[in-house]
Amino acid sequence: MSPSQRRATPTLLVSTIIISLAFTGPAYAKRPVATGTGGAAATISEQATQSAITILNQGGNAVDAAVAAAATLGVTDPFSCGIGGGGFMVIYLARDKRVITIDHREMAPAGFKPTVFTENGAEMDFEKVVASGMSVGVPGTVRGWHEALDRYGKMNFRQVLAPAIKVASEGFRINANFAHLIDGNIGKFQLFPATAALYLKDGKSLPAGTLLRNPDMAKAYREIAAGGVKAFYEGKIGRAIVAAVNKPPVAGGADVRGGNMTMADLANYEARLRQPVRSTYRGYDIVGMPLPSSGGVAVAEALNILEGYDLKSMPREKAEHLYLEASRLAFADRNAYLADPEFVEAPVEGLMSKEYAARRRELIDVNHAGKPMAPAGDPYPFQKDQSYPLRPSTSKLLAEGAHTTHLTVSDKEGNIVSYTYTIESWGGSGITVPGYGFILNNEMTDFDFSGPHPNVPEAGKRPRSSMTPTIAFKDGKPAFTIGSPGGSTIITTVLQTIVNYIDLGMRMDQALDAPRLSQRNGAATDIEPGFGTSAQAKGLAAMGHTWGAQEEIGAANALVFNPDGTVTAVSEGKRHGTGSAAVQHPAH
Ligand code: GLU
Repeated sequence: MSPSQRRATPTLLVSTIIISLAFTGPAYAKRPVATGTGGAAATISEQATQSAITILNQGGNAVDAAVAAAATLGVTDPFSCGIGGGGFMVIYLARDKRVITIDHREMAPAGFKPTVFTENGAEMDFEKVVASGMSVGVPGTVRGWHEALDRYGKMNFRQVLAPAIKVASEGFRINANFAHLIDGNIGKFQLFPATAALYLKDGKSLPAGTLLRNPDMAKAYREIAAGGVKAFYEGKIGRAIVAAVNKPPVAGGADVRGGNMTMADLANYEARLRQPVRSTYRGYDIVGMPLPSSGGVAVAEALNILEGYDLKSMPREKAEHLYLEASRLAFADRNAYLADPEFVEAPVEGLMSKEYAARRRELIDVNHAGKPMAPAGDPYPFQKDQSYPLRPSTSKLLAEGAHTTHLTVSDKEGNIVSYTYTIESWGGSGITVPGYGFILNNEMTDFDFSGPHPNVPEAGKRPRSSMTPTIAFKDGKPAFTIGSPGGSTIITTVLQTIVNYIDLGMRMDQALDAPRLSQRNGAATDIEPGFGTSAQAKGLAAMGHTWGAQEEIGAANALVFNPDGTVTAVSEGKRHGTGSAAVQHPAH
């Protein structure tokens, strides 16, 4: 059984309770939709959106503002993201009309081999690996931010980290969602005194409303502001990371394994500038993240399959049935073929071809749900190069939770950033780097624990991701951005939102708010509470769909570039404690 199969549906319940934030900084209404001119930002955190707008107002561009927002999310959403993790940034440069991507995914240390997560021939216990030094990959975030600022920004670390340093030093009031996430991780956090000291009180979660300061994280950001990328990868922070990974600082006697990371692993880490994947859908150019994220390819394949149907003219449940079936087939291929392109020659061209999609479409019954665990297709005949040896016929089922964060920013010059970044599970490995206040990722558990499989662990390899930061264009002009957290449900959230927006004619806020359905080649389709009793659900059930429960799916953020030149920033209206959207010059 693969670790992803053993990975139970998360027991973490993400609260949808909205409480008013007692943030004491300058007020930006915490609202999920804003329209106007100038730059725009949408994130899941009020303070992060505010940081982006502050940097835009100071003359920074979208890249500067995105890094500022991300750094702030590291403070206000420390269980989803931070400098202990990695991510994927998609950037549109307006002047050059060019999209580039920065892959700063975590990398396996040089000591890794394919059997690292097996013992006596069996896969190791998944949760035990998560809460250990073994799960920690070389963090890529700071290197990614450095490349983004250095190549495409106008500001330096000192400027863009200032808002996050302020929030970390002065503190912010945690909301019910934050407290709930601590609750779900108490067992893991108790293992590590530096984590417990930050987020627990008398062995329990800090209550909602607590003013949380993180001076150690402010110190980490200050050292990066002063010393740049080397302060992290070759300096004191790096040494603290290596020490914490190899000998996790645990509460007396806890049985937590160490990893095997060296200063050379950190010093050798590079972010990769990669060409985006491009596909078309009903007149839109969909530009997304290439491998090692599977997101761009899987969304493209599913959209290519869907393009053969006139979804607009169908009853909603019929269109949604086809969305679920296209997703099922795209996941069968994604699970079988996709991995780090520096280690595996994945048949991306074939998977993204319209002709291959036509073959896959033939497998869909327009009236009935397909069987779970659909086999992968054979995209090789649709590659130009036919020399690929691998022909897997099985497809592993994935079940992951909703972690990570996605943010999106544009500026007055028309530059755009769509950015998803993570530390993998809620609370990552659980290990807070002592003295520096940030949590280390558990991204190495995104590898398949045993092979043969393209996504087995290897030295220097990056585990396959689902992150899907996307920018869509129409007639050569930016049309919208979309992205979300949520492990493998990221792909379905992005796909469904695109279908809602383009095919079902919803406004972007409606497209985000609509109930999410996630079919990832499993027996059941995951749904959110309340959907199962709807007429729509009954229609789908009549076609053979069955349901699995998730408390909530995704926490998306989007921008829409309107024909009148205004921009609309859209965040979640009700998920993850409600998101925050803002524009520099609101339209009244
Ligand atoms: N590790 C996941 C990925 O790279 C992201 C974490 C999550 O959203 O669950 O796809």
